[in-house]
Amino acid sequence: MSTKGYFGKLLEVNLSTGKIEKTKIPDSDIKNFLGGRGLGAKILYDRLKPGTDPMSPENILMFMTGPFVGYPIPSSSRTCVVTKSPRTSPVEKKYEHSSTLSYANMGGFFGPELKYAGYDGLLVTGKSDKPVYILIEGENVSIEDASEYWGMGTDQFDKIFHSQLGEGRYESCYIGPAGENLVPMACIINTAARAAGRGGTGCVMGSKKLKAIAVKGSGIPEVADLKKYNELLETIRGSFMEKNDSVMDWRYGGTANALSSSSNNGTQAVKNYSEGTFSEIEKIGTEANRKKIWKRDFACYSCQLACKKSGFAKGAYGVQVHDGPEYETGTMLGANLMISDLNGLHKLIYDGDDYGIDIISVGNTIGFLMEAMQRGHINADFLDGIQLKWGDVESSLELMRKITYREGVGELACRGVKYLAKIIGKGSDEYAIHVKGHELAAWNVPVRSSYWSITYATSNRGACHMNGGSSNSQDGACLRDSLGACSFASSWYRDDVHYRHILSAITGLEWTEEEFNKAGSRIFTIEKMFNYREGFRRVDDTIPEKFFNNEFTYGEHKGAIVERDEFNSNLDRYYESRGWNLNTSKPEDNVLRELNLEFTI
Ligand code: SF4
Repeated sequence: MSTKGYFGKLLEVNLSTGKIEKTKIPDSDIKNFLGGRGLGAKILYDRLKPGTDPMSPENILMFMTGPFVGYPIPSSSRTCVVTKSPRTSPVEKKYEHSSTLSYANMGGFFGPELKYAGYDGLLVTGKSDKPVYILIEGENVSIEDASEYWGMGTDQFDKIFHSQLGEGRYESCYIGPAGENLVPMACIINTAARAAGRGGTGCVMGSKKLKAIAVKGSGIPEVADLKKYNELLETIRGSFMEKNDSVMDWRYGGTANALSSSSNNGTQAVKNYSEGTFSEIEKIGTEANRKKIWKRDFACYSCQLACKKSGFAKGAYGVQVHDGPEYETGTMLGANLMISDLNGLHKLIYDGDDYGIDIISVGNTIGFLMEAMQRGHINADFLDGIQLKWGDVESSLELMRKITYREGVGELACRGVKYLAKIIGKGSDEYAIHVKGHELAAWNVPVRSSYWSITYATSNRGACHMNGGSSNSQDGACLRDSLGACSFASSWYRDDVHYRHILSAITGLEWTEEEFNKAGSRIFTIEKMFNYREGFRRVDDTIPEKFFNNEFTYGEHKGAIVERDEFNSNLDRYYESRGWNLNTSKPEDNVLRELNLEFTI
């Protein structure tokens, strides 16, 4: 008998040998690492030899659910994909293949279905000789030929695959051409537009020749205290109703609402992060999309916020809009490239999703090349004749296509801005916007620099906007991602409907505030120790040079810049708050013991 709320079981599929196993998760790991991101990090730390090549059969690609996933707890359907990253590297490599771990989180219906099939997680190892998909129907699991699907974009694949399997029978996730072509910034998609976007998860999936996973289940683990659980559910649903204005804001615009507010606040990535405000933001913001594009709001499993938007773009760039723009996609392929053609933006987002590529990284990379062109560090010859310039949809579309198919300059650009800066030289690393090799997301740094600089510098998957700039917010993000909850709804889970009360009702285990917070810290720290073991040190916890040298040139925040001394002292304070060595960044031994992580010392 496992802990209530869990099946206590992992499905393990080795694509080299064809071996399929169901293994038990130790109760102590469930208690200490909860599920999702946390349990994934523990498994990766335990099983992966330091220095393992992320593209080798030994790397583990995990699809982890959490204890909330599958229950009708509002906004708690996330699947966390955990693996070793093909995107990152430290300043000084301890191993040839030193890299961080990677985690990427996707909503939708895949996670709940995996749980209903009887598993708290799916671990894929090995490498198939030919394209395959994994078919899971409860206890029945098989590896099937996917040759006929290889080469398909995610939109076409989703339609054909599901019509062949039986419409609505299975939930699935899959890669597009970018993952198949081993583009390091490839992602994993489900329902044509939801993505485990960051950190190269789709590249690892492609390296295993795994096109897709389809899953169907029918059960859910018993809840320990059904009365308490039902009371909490009723209260949390009520609290969504009380905060009705916020709920309606989310339904109206989703994260696209932030396109305007972030631009007004000077925190948007604009012109390869040279500016924080985009004067044409209203052309691609919520109101424009409501008026011209969106037809329908929709939601992930059991979510009242329904932040997803679909509709149609028109004209020469006419496409079916599966979702977006979100704040990240609208900024990285819009404001960051100075693109304000709304239909063109939708075509870029559609293609990015259809290729199965991380839109944040590809938008960042195209922005970097636009700046390199502007500065005369490259010319059109470098780009196979593409006249890449700010605001131009056509050249951006063509570059994204080349990146996906590794064609010409795409062979270089698919590796991201850190690699490109090395090839181009001429001081271009100054404006290569990445941390540890992973491109920054759509939030610019100089305004609110104490928050954003620490957020990006210390995140465990390389630059990441989802964790926050203090140990408390990072630990909270670890808890949320391990339970399977969506970050956008986290502000509703406070006080008497706090996550820990729901976890107690499901599992029957009492969680004090202190123990719960400690679990978050434990999860963040084991990720840190994975990276430390690979050779990442304080010198890797930094931000791009541009933020120390480039002042915003217009708007309310004209002159904004990051002061280097201030950044260094903020980093000191952050390390002190975690009990990390100020020189090496290693968590001190007493901290590791206190977190029950003595096995990492
Ligand atoms: S808020 Fe949006 S992303 Fe989060 S669960 Fe709801 S619909 Fe999905």
